[in-house]
This record gives sequence, structure tokens and C-alpha cells, in this order.
Amino acid sequence: MLKEMVEKKATSLPCDSTTMTNYFSEDHPDEEKWADCVHCGMCLEACPTYLITGQEQHSPRGRVHLIKSVAEGKLNLNEAFADPVFQCLDCRACTTACPADVDVGGLIEEARGQVRKAMPLTGWKGVVSSFFLKGLFPHQKRMGAVGGMLKFYQQSGVQKLMRGSRALQIMPSHLSGMEAIMPEVGSPVQQKYKDVDVIPAKGTPKARVAMLTGCIMDVMFSDINQSTINVLTYNDNEVTVPKNQTCCGALHVHAGDRDTGRKLAKQNIEAFENDEKVVVNAAGCGCALKEYPELFKDDPHWRKRAEAFSEKVQDISKYLYDTGYEKPKSSIDKKITYHDACHLAHGQGVRHEPRQMLKDIPGIDYTEMSRADTCCGSAGIYNLTHPEMAKAVLDEKMKHVPEDVEMISMGNPGCMLQMAMGVQKYGRRSDIVHTVQLLDWAYQKDQKSTVHQGKE
Ligand code: SF4
Ligand code: SF4
Repeated sequence: MLKEMVEKKATSLPCDSTTMTNYFSEDHPDEEKWADCVHCGMCLEACPTYLITGQEQHSPRGRVHLIKSVAEGKLNLNEAFADPVFQCLDCRACTTACPADVDVGGLIEEARGQVRKAMPLTGWKGVVSSFFLKGLFPHQKRMGAVGGMLKFYQQSGVQKLMRGSRALQIMPSHLSGMEAIMPEVGSPVQQKYKDVDVIPAKGTPKARVAMLTGCIMDVMFSDINQSTINVLTYNDNEVTVPKNQTCCGALHVHAGDRDTGRKLAKQNIEAFENDEKVVVNAAGCGCALKEYPELFKDDPHWRKRAEAFSEKVQDISKYLYDTGYEKPKSSIDKKITYHDACHLAHGQGVRHEPRQMLKDIPGIDYTEMSRADTCCGSAGIYNLTHPEMAKAVLDEKMKHVPEDVEMISMGNPGCMLQMAMGVQKYGRRSDIVHTVQLLDWAYQKDQKSTVHQGKE
């Protein structure tokens, strides 16, 4: 069966092809991306999966070689290829380390799309994947209903009952670990501002920005979405929350479902068409939005629109840094370190801005973490699909987190959950916070002290 599919793929290639590729003709890994790899191995020490396994096929260089081998017809789209391709964290640390800037993450995502075309998920894996990726994440109302159920679970006493019983102990350890660190579910900002066209700036507006609220973000981390709005309006930005936006599609593209990724990308491009700036507070989502043009290589019309869209996208820390923000006067007296989310540092090149934001808050005793830009093992839903490797990557990460810090700050919700598991596992006392929350808390203190002074 697989042999027939491979033959079909080979014959569906463009007629000027001289190699007997084993890829499908559309949306296959781009030769230009691997052509610059000179097998120097400078990426090896940056790759978490290589450092853990010591195996070449789980290194960036090995993966590039495998991807090229399928293109040259030396390897089939089979399990032996799928395993190293899906074991990759898509963390992009290799591209940062590579002197030739080989886009290994981009190649991996394209290769995953090919694997899923040749070997679609079947059985319970197919059902679960389809339920979450197609049936849930892209639908705001359904996500809102899930949020409501989680809120009920947390507030009705059921969670307390479950935690007191042995019920959670019979769950797989990575799932019970996630339950233990589940943040308190709040109210989605999509819901809160559903009748508001423009959230006003505190003073004279200097700009108007649109905000991506995200799918999981607005359910599990709506407080961070609120902090993002607070910080933007405090710095004289008007904020809009476009209603017809949807999930960014990052999880779909990571999982090889590029068709759904394209569908969601088109919806977001249209939803933000009239906005000049799109601000994002989740590094994984921001990186996915910036890479929308990659999804439309074979579609010039949408590629053009995707390019125009991706130019408008900015991480919240970069936006504030570039446009200027008021330095808070109130202090947050905490010892803090910072973890670079892969899709912010490696994916978007944003490293200095969030650190500067932290250092601008009075009272913060900042400690730099060694290997701060090493992956924590979250990687979208990697910690669910590859729990053992995700745990091993987290264990390595935790070796670099200073033991005496009171807070670990970062800019990505997936990392926040994963690092919370690390903190819990190693009995640390550090709170996990989004960088923008700290700025918001400092501003809130400023506002309270202004009100207090006004009363005196
Ligand atoms: S991906 Fe880059 S760093 Fe790694 S072997 Fe190839 S050229 Fe060298
Ligand atoms: S993206 Fe990360 S895990 Fe994948 S090959 Fe590169 S460094 Fe290794």
C-alpha cells in the first residue's frame, strides 16, 4: 500500500524533476532550505533531543539528511522517517546555532505535512487529534464552553474531591501532573469585550493595535490577555479585539495538518485585514502568524496577503519596546530570572526587549539563567505526544534555573505550564509569570498610589 502511494507521489512530480523523489508534489520540503547544510555539526550541541539521545537521526544535521534522502528517493515516507521528524521539538535552537541559517524547523514542519499525507493518524490517535485540532481549538464558543466546565471543576469543589481521592493517581503521570499545575480559569477577554469596538487608551491615543486573543490562551490565561490590554492602554494605545479571529494554527502546522493551518491562517488574515498592527502575547502563536507566508508557497494570491499580514505582527514585548512605554515607579521586590521561549528567541529574535522590561521595573533583582534559550520541553503539545522526551528535556532545563529565584518570567503559555511542572517536580518555590503581568502589576501599584495621594 505504502509502496503504491510512494509510486503515485513520484509520478505526480513536476515533469522537469530529475530525481525520483518520494514526496508528494505539493508543499514538500523546500530544497533551498537544506541546500546550504554543509554537515558541519555546529548545531549538534544546541539540539536538546541530540544531547539526550546521542543519536544522529535525532540531531538537526541527521534530520536534514533524512529529509533530503526522501527527496532523493533513497528513503520512504515511513515510520523510520516519521519518528525522528516528530521527535523534533521544532525549537529552532539549531537555526540560531547554524552558521548557514538552515531553517530546520521549517523543513521539519513541511516534512510532517508529507508524513501525515502518507500516513494519516488512525484509531484513537486520529479521533483525539481531530477532536482537539479541528473540533475544538478553532471554535471560540466551544473553547468558551470548555473554559466554563474547567471553571466549574475548579470552583465547585470537584477538583478538591478529585485531588483528595486516588482518582488522579490512576491517570498517566504527565496528565495528572498537568492537572496539578492547571491555572485558575478566568473570564475570556473575547467575552468581556464582545460589545466593545475599541478599548480606549488611558491618555491621548498614540496608536491603535489589534490583539490576538488565542484559543487556549483566552481560556487558561485570560488574566494575561487582560494584563496585555491593561499595559497597552496604560501606554496610550487603543486596543481592538477582532471578533472573527481564530486559533493561529500553530498546533496544526506542528502536527502536520497544514491544510487546517492554511484555513485558519486565511481566517486570521481576513480578520485583521484592516488593522495596522497585530500584537501577540504568546510566542508560539506570534511565530506561527509571522510564518503564514510559508503555508502559501504554491498560492501567489494568498502568499502576498500573508506577507502583508506577517509584517504587522509583533510580540507584545517588542511592540512596547519599539513604541516606548512608561517606566513604572512602584517596585516589585522579587528575585527574578527569565526563560526564553524558543519561538520568541529563536523564532522571532526577541531576547533583549523582555529582559529590559523586567529591568525597568523598580525592585526587581534580576538574575540571568544559564542556557536561558534552551527548550523546556513544552513545544506545543509535544509534552502530550512525547511525554518521556518532554520530561527529559525539562529535567535538563531545570538544572539551569537558579534555585533561589522567587519568580520565573517568560512570554509563552505553553512554557508557563511546562515550567510550572518543573518547579513542582523539583520542589522549588518560584512562581511562574508572564513578563507583561509584572509590568501590569507595577502599573496597578502606581495607579493605587496616585489615587491614595489624591485623597491626602
Ligand atoms: S544545519 Fe547548519 S550547523 Fe547543522 S550541520 Fe547543517 S550547516 Fe552545520
Ligand atoms: S528544532 Fe530543536 S529539537 Fe529539532 S532539530 Fe532543531 S534543535 Fe533539535
